[in-house]
Amino acid sequence: MAGSSGSISAKEGNPFEAMSARFEVAARKLGLDPGLYEILKTPDRELAVSIPVEMDDGSYRVFQGYRVQHNMASGPCKGGIRFSPEVTLDEVRALAAWMTWKCAIANVPFGGGKGGVICDPSQLSRREIERITRRYVAMIIDIIGPERDVPAPDMNTNENVMAWIMDTYSMHARHAVPAIVTGKPIGLGGSLGRTEATGRGLDVVTREAMAYLDIPLRGARVVVQGFGNVGSIAARLLYEDGANIVAVSDVHGGIVNPAGLNVHELLKFARANRTVRGFPGSSEITNEELLEVQTDILLPAATENQITSRNADRISTRIIVEGANGPTTAAADALLEEKGIFVVPDILANAGGVTVSYFEWVQNRYGYYWEEAEVNDRLENTMVKAFRDVATVAEKFDVSMRLGAYMLGIDRVAYTTLTRGIYA
Ligand code: NAD
Repeated sequence: MAGSSGSISAKEGNPFEAMSARFEVAARKLGLDPGLYEILKTPDRELAVSIPVEMDDGSYRVFQGYRVQHNMASGPCKGGIRFSPEVTLDEVRALAAWMTWKCAIANVPFGGGKGGVICDPSQLSRREIERITRRYVAMIIDIIGPERDVPAPDMNTNENVMAWIMDTYSMHARHAVPAIVTGKPIGLGGSLGRTEATGRGLDVVTREAMAYLDIPLRGARVVVQGFGNVGSIAARLLYEDGANIVAVSDVHGGIVNPAGLNVHELLKFARANRTVRGFPGSSEITNEELLEVQTDILLPAATENQITSRNADRISTRIIVEGANGPTTAAADALLEEKGIFVVPDILANAGGVTVSYFEWVQNRYGYYWEEAEVNDRLENTMVKAFRDVATVAEKFDVSMRLGAYMLGIDRVAYTTLTRGIYA
C-alpha cells in the first residue's frame, strides 16, 4: 500500500484487518450475540471475475476483477469501483464493510458494496479502459441493479466510467436505467452537488467537531494531505469558513506556508500545473513531514495507511478529520487517543459522498431533479445529525468517536437483521 507506512507489518497494513480490529472491539462493547457477530462480519457475497480484453495493439489480456457485497439487510448494496494495480480482495472486502457501517451511520437505506479491477489506468488508453469497464459490468451484471447493488466512482474511476456502466447495463435491460450507478455526468442523471459532496460533508463535520470541542474554526490551522476531489474541496470550504490552510500535498509532495495559503489561487495553480508543488510563496516538504506539521486540524484525504504505529506519536494536532478511507491503522488509534487527539473517523467524516449518491439514486427513480441548494441543505442536515448521533453513543459508552461510529453502525444493521429474522 502506498504512503508513509513504509515499514509497518503486513497485518497492520491490511485494510480488512483494520476494519475487523475496530469491529471486534465495538461488537464486544455492544455485547453483540456471537452468531450475529458472525453474520455481520462476513460478506454476504463475493464475486471474482476474469475480464478478457482486446488491447489497442490487437493482443489479448485478462484482468482480475471483484465485486463484494458485504451486507444487504438495509437495501441495495452501494459502493465504488476502484481501478488500481494495488487492488486486493481484502481491500475490496474492507471497503465494502466500511460502506455498510457508513450508510447505517448516515441513515442512508443501503447496504455496503465495493468493486475493484486490478489494472493500471496510467498504462491504458481510454478505449482500453472502456473495454475493461464494459466487460467487467457484463461479468457482474447478474448481481447488480438499482434494487440490488449500485456502483459509484472510486480511485481512478470517474464520471466517464460511470456513463459506460450505465450504458452497458441499459443495453442489456433494453431501456435507459440511470439508477444503476451514481456519480454520473449531470446530463445522464447525475446529481448537482455530487462532485463536491464528500468535501462538503467534511467541512460540515469539521465545523461540528470544532463547536463540540469549543475551539473557534476561524483562524484555526489546517493541514490537508491529498489535493484531489475530496481534499481540495474540503480545503476550499474550510478556507471560506475562515480557517488558515497552512500545508497541503499531493502524490508528488507537499507545500507549507505558516502564514496560510490562498486556496483559491492554489486551486487555479494545481489545475494548471497538475500538482501543488511550486506554488508561489510556499516551501516544499515531503508527505511524511506534512503529517507532522503542528496544526489544529489534520485532514488526511489521500489514501490508506498514512497514520500508523510508526508516525502517530509525532502527529501534533487537536483533531483529525478522515477524508480518505482507512488513513489511520488500528495500531495508531491508541497512540492518538493517548495524545488526546479527537478523531472524526472515515465512516462518519466522508459519508457525504454516499449521502448525495443516495440523493442521486432517489432523483433517478422518481425522475425529478433537485436544485443544488436543496441537495446541499439535505446533505448538511444528514451530516450534522450523523455527527451528533455518533457523539451521543461515544459519550454514553465513554469511547472514542471511532468506536462510537462503529457501535452505531453495527447496532443499526443488527437491529435490521434481527427484526427481519433469518430466512431459512
Ligand atoms: P483523487 O484521486 O481525486 O485525489 C487523491 C489525491 O491524493 C490526489 O491529490 C493525489 O495526488 C493524492 N495522493 C495519492 N496518493 C498519495 C500519497 N501516497 N501521498 C500523498 N498524496 C497522495 O481521489 P478522491 O476522490 O479525492 O479520494 C481520496 C480519498 O477519499 C480516497 O481514500 C477515497 O476512497 C476517499 N473517498 C472519496 C470519496 C469521493 O466521493 N471522491 C468518498 C469517500 C471517500
